Amino acid sequence: MCGIVGYAGKTKAIPKIMTGLKSLEYRGYDSSGIAYVKDKKVKTIKKSGPINNLDEHLSYDEDTTIGISHTRWATHGRADDINSHPHHQGKITLVHNGIIENYDVLKRKLIEEGYHFISETDTEVAAAVIDSLYKESNNMVETLSKASEALKGSYALAILNSDNLDTIYALRKDSPLIVGLGNGENILASDIPAIAHVTTKYVVLDNYDIVVLNKDKVTFYNKAKEEITKNPRIFSLADETISKNGFDHFMLKEINEESDVVKKLLSLHTENNHIKDIYDITKYQRIDIVACGSASFAGQIGKYYIEKFKNIPVSVHFASEYRYQKNFFNKDTLVILISQSGETADTLAALKIAKENGSDTLAIVNRHDSSIAREADHVLYIEAGIEIAVATTKAYLAQVILLLFLAIKGIREEKKIIEDLKLLPNLITKYINEFDYTKIAKMFVNKDHVFYLGRGIDFFLSMEGSLKLKEISYIHSEAFQAGELKHGSISLIDEDFGVIAVVTDKNISDKTISNLKEVSARGAKIVAITNIEDDNFSDAKIMVDDISDVINPLTVIVPMQMLAYTVANLKKCDIDKPRNLAKSVTVE
Ligand code: GLU
Repeated sequence: MCGIVGYAGKTKAIPKIMTGLKSLEYRGYDSSGIAYVKDKKVKTIKKSGPINNLDEHLSYDEDTTIGISHTRWATHGRADDINSHPHHQGKITLVHNGIIENYDVLKRKLIEEGYHFISETDTEVAAAVIDSLYKESNNMVETLSKASEALKGSYALAILNSDNLDTIYALRKDSPLIVGLGNGENILASDIPAIAHVTTKYVVLDNYDIVVLNKDKVTFYNKAKEEITKNPRIFSLADETISKNGFDHFMLKEINEESDVVKKLLSLHTENNHIKDIYDITKYQRIDIVACGSASFAGQIGKYYIEKFKNIPVSVHFASEYRYQKNFFNKDTLVILISQSGETADTLAALKIAKENGSDTLAIVNRHDSSIAREADHVLYIEAGIEIAVATTKAYLAQVILLLFLAIKGIREEKKIIEDLKLLPNLITKYINEFDYTKIAKMFVNKDHVFYLGRGIDFFLSMEGSLKLKEISYIHSEAFQAGELKHGSISLIDEDFGVIAVVTDKNISDKTISNLKEVSARGAKIVAITNIEDDNFSDAKIMVDDISDVINPLTVIVPMQMLAYTVANLKKCDIDKPRNLAKSVTVE
């Protein structure tokens, strides 16, 4: 969460910093702020709310060539101006991504030392820790090495020191930070899109790396204060360009990209209708899939496919629970970690635990060079391109497709399944363009509560449909196993309750339909996303195709996303940046 940009160059810094910061707004939008050097002084401007609030208070012509900036996803303290970053203590001004877990203890000690705090944040404490350590040595590399001992938790820090105002210092642990190497200018940021306007050459920082950056030079040190060499990488600009491409929202653009994502995965992983080059999971006796949010719901579909075709028991866990529960690690267990950003803090922590306990780890991620990609024993990239909308769409589908590939490699039906899967890209385009979602979305705009119902794999799909609806439209929605309702929760149903049913699985659809009858008997209107033509169980329906057992579940994904999108659009919600959320959840 949160975006950081620091820049030092020859030309005016504010336009460079703000271009970068705006490309990171998807990472947090509670507040934003900037500190830059003018007339040998640090000037700080910070505002709560979206980046535009800050933008209005800036002069892009300001005579400054160096600065640091931040867009916040608040963890400690309200989203107001005072808690916004940058924070300042003594000679130190800094921005921070992450959580300082021991901030309370440190704060009490620092107050005894004479420090005074004006914000509620953990970050202001980090600023005071660094200032206090700097007083001992007057050397920032020494100071940051000591700070990495003192600060517990996660942090990416970009720092100005008033003793040396042509330099930005940085330090990272468990929160992402990269350094872009330009020509007469250098930049550091949380993610690649924020440096793309300056350079394509960049360095990924490892935990405890210390950076000393000015316009002409970047020097890297390890925790032992030794200078180290880091290998620069190059990214392709085409991959990192951020634009809505004429769509009203990134989410709609990204839904429209799903057809190409499927084609790309087919071309990367299949040849002559067979899977090539994919990790072989057959040697394992058990699989744990560990992820958060939508990625974990993709994992549920993966469980269905892997158990069906590989006959290996799979359990799916939320990473935030997995870390603290009893697990049964051994060399016969594969732990699959799924994360779009590859930086999800809970998933990263789960990965480390699995590795430490001797299990093999396989990461399914989108972002190359991300922490999870680098730490896992094996990696599969979903190659979905950058995803900006906070609510995932194309990354979720791509995760499901890769799990399907893992499940079907080497099985008898492999060829037929891939042939069928090749129909999906055109179906996706058809479902986006040929259905009038507005008519159905209007049935939900005024609902307070919705059940998303299904059985078997249709329930696993409902989990994602329900999350999509609630996260962007703010309608309370729960996925429920249709057969389980009568054991308690059906008491909630009345004519005001919204119901969406996913019915694609012919093996169980008769039972699901009976459950839906029980619901309509209590007055609720039902919208079905189904491939059953002449149904008598819904009040309105979104019709999808009947291709095969394996492909049918995949057909409902885009309609579920389009329905959520349309409801949120009718409600005039901030679709790409839903309240309280952020892309890339780098705090635990
Ligand atoms: N923990 C810090 C705060 O609440 C940083 C949060 C962030 O990563 O944006 O201000």
